Amino acid sequence: METEKLYHEDPYLGEFEAMVLRVDGNEVVLDRTAFYPEGGGQAGDTGVIGGVRVADTQIRDGIIVHILEAPPSFTAGDRVECRIDWERRHRIMRLHSAAHIMEFFLRRRLGEMERVGSHVDDRKDRSDYAYEGRLPADELKKVEEDTNRFLAEGREIRIRPDPERPGIRIWSCGPIEMPCGGTHVRSTREIGAVRLRRRNPGRGVERVETTLAED
Ligand SMILES: [Zn+2]
Repeated sequence: METEKLYHEDPYLGEFEAMVLRVDGNEVVLDRTAFYPEGGGQAGDTGVIGGVRVADTQIRDGIIVHILEAPPSFTAGDRVECRIDWERRHRIMRLHSAAHIMEFFLRRRLGEMERVGSHVDDRKDRSDYAYEGRLPADELKKVEEDTNRFLAEGREIRIRPDPERPGIRIWSCGPIEMPCGGTHVRSTREIGAVRLRRRNPGRGVERVETTLAED
């Protein structure tokens, strides 16, 4: 029961039609979907399937499960109209792309550091790094300036499959490259400017929160 991942073919696809493969209570599996399931630190998509609100999208044992707010009246074999909450998803894509760029400049200013966790939704990206001591505020300000200067350059963002590791996708933008399975904007111009904030979630870990400057 493999669902076709439309969000990889076209991350800008907001509306699509699909066939229902399975309904289990308020959980739905489709033959194809543009709903990104939570993973790789990126929040799952919300939206509407067959007129019913989708509260979250998850992946379980490799199967993409749409979690509806109520059990639907449609059943397996039905064709349904689907729509993701595009504005929310686009903000997630902008913040996810921005976080990769922020990380590049963070390491350039402060040296290699291991990312030990990350999460991005439509409000912010938070990335956690193994770091002894406190991220210096003046350096973080410079990282923010570096990031915003780079974003304003209107750099193209590309995603390609890794030829050596099936299923792994490589994200790249100018000199920056990393594996990532998430959804991203096509150009840094779509992101605008960002603001960085330091948090300390616990010993030996420093967190950088990235938000859109327009908020
Ligand atoms: Zn990523």
